[in-house]
Amino acid sequence: MKKVAVIGYGGQGAWHCAQILKSDVAVLAGTYDIKENRREAAKENGIFVYESNEAIFADSSVDIIVVATPNDVHEDLVVNGLKSGHNVICEKPVALSVDEFDRMVDAANISGKKLSVHQNRRWDIDFLGVKGVIRSEEIGKVIRIESRIHGSRGIPSDWRCEKAPGGGMILDWGVHLIDQMLQLITEKVVSVNCVNTHITNQEVDDGFRLELIFESGKTAHVEVGTYNFIAMPRFYMQCENGSLYLTDWQQKAHIAKLTRWIEKDVTPVQNAAGITKTMAPRDHLTLDEYDIEKPSSDVHNFYRNFCDAIDGKTEQFIKNSEVRRVLLVMEACFKSDELKQTLSVEI
Ligand code: NAD
Repeated sequence: MKKVAVIGYGGQGAWHCAQILKSDVAVLAGTYDIKENRREAAKENGIFVYESNEAIFADSSVDIIVVATPNDVHEDLVVNGLKSGHNVICEKPVALSVDEFDRMVDAANISGKKLSVHQNRRWDIDFLGVKGVIRSEEIGKVIRIESRIHGSRGIPSDWRCEKAPGGGMILDWGVHLIDQMLQLITEKVVSVNCVNTHITNQEVDDGFRLELIFESGKTAHVEVGTYNFIAMPRFYMQCENGSLYLTDWQQKAHIAKLTRWIEKDVTPVQNAAGITKTMAPRDHLTLDEYDIEKPSSDVHNFYRNFCDAIDGKTEQFIKNSEVRRVLLVMEACFKSDELKQTLSVEI
């Protein structure tokens, strides 16, 4: 069992502590938070509280340090954790820039310890369902994927509203959705166009609309909104032999699979201003429609994988090269929005 200490006992630090307490590969050494009320909360939950972050760095019995603080202090804590001879898991977004992340990876290489990023949304079942359909090619190769998360309550009213600690929705949710998209379409990104929204907040983006073009011409749309009182579907995917639609992350994905392309005669759709066959839906004679079962998922596999990677039994599931690509896309998003231009890239 690996011994884990958690830096930051806010929302996500407490989540990590709870997960570790249920883990079959890790035990919780304790936590530290700069806020007294959070240290008290940890004590009330029966968790050992260190005297400082330095006390965690000095504890050589700890195998893994988890960094779960606001984003602007990740670099210092991660680098100090690695330098003190510990393996480190950092919360997403691991860094505010690619340069920051490169310095963390350098520190890991010098120390010989492992660094991983908690891209836990790779275990979301909506994403895994879409990934399974792509891998099986049951509706053929991908043409376009649209991935959206729509909330209706603005940005949480904490540090996420401010620029300095690394707030805004590209950094908060974009990092998950872009990471997922680069897992679904594994080709080089050649074009980035991003428009940020500022409906409820001027200082940071409260949402964004991102268009990606990949090397073979596949396209993707990634969108986060926090002012959407009707949510658009979580996923919409066009493939060579069908389409996929997933209303929200609790639902099953719905598939319409083309059985015959040639026999495409349909009943025209009548509207007040005219009729159309071009835009009329196909009928069941040439389309097979069905739901796919939700895949199973166990987020504890994140810790299981990292512990095995530390012992040299397997590769890290969340690779630092993948994390770096996501950061490059995020940097391109901010630049594209600022310049109001589509950027040609090689990511
Ligand atoms: P939070 O504000 O709830 O908690 C952060 C805590 O860190 C606070 O209690 C604060 O006092 C403490 N802190 C700040 N600086 C510190 C320092 N130098 N040393 C020790 N403690 C310090 O924020 P949160 O929602 O828990 O977010 C923390 C991190 O987790 C962020 O990077 C965020 O993006 C990430 N997060 C990830 C997920 C996910 O699903 N992977 C979900 C939520 C948050």
